[in-house]
Amino acid sequence: DATTLAGRSRALIRDVPDYPRAGVTFKDITPLLADGPAFSAVVTELAERTRALGGVDLVAGMEARGFILGAPVAAALGVGFVPVRKAGKLPGPTLAAAFRLEYGDATIEVRPDTIPDGARVLVLDDVLATGGTAAATADLVERAGGVVAGLAFLLELTFLAGRDRLAGRHLDVLLTEA
Ligand code: AMP
Repeated sequence: DATTLAGRSRALIRDVPDYPRAGVTFKDITPLLADGPAFSAVVTELAERTRALGGVDLVAGMEARGFILGAPVAAALGVGFVPVRKAGKLPGPTLAAAFRLEYGDATIEVRPDTIPDGARVLVLDDVLATGGTAAATADLVERAGGVVAGLAFLLELTFLAGRDRLAGRHLDVLLTEA
């Protein structure tokens, strides 16, 4: 397994127990990002899968690690990148979506004028956990006039069942953890 992309990537994601809160095991991708061949291989694989979807016009990435992975995927495909940001970070006009996190609430925003009507958008983030962030992002893209071509993640935490909140949507996941 250590020779496959999945095996090498998995070994470079660090488990941080009880971070940012007790009971949560944080998946730290900074060792993977710091490894040039592994980072490049992950970006290439995400770009390949997105290319296979066909006709994706934009990649939308969620702050902050969705920026780190999404921007190079967009550039590799020669398409634009749309940042989905935490509330108050983007100059307007913006559309906002509020959603529930495991603890507390969050609001994310996008600039609708960066998504042309009917544009096919790939939503990309590092980790699919409860799916709240991804579902809210997909909703924002659609309210802005885009079409969600699919969602892609480096890692899916299957025990949190985030996939259930994305029913009917195309998902690409490089690694899973049960
Ligand atoms: P969720 O909305 O619950 O699917 O959470 C997804 C967002 O929170 C993503 O932007 C992830 O980067 C981050 N996240 C949630 N849980 C974890 C975790 N255990 N390790 C690392 N990032 C996480």
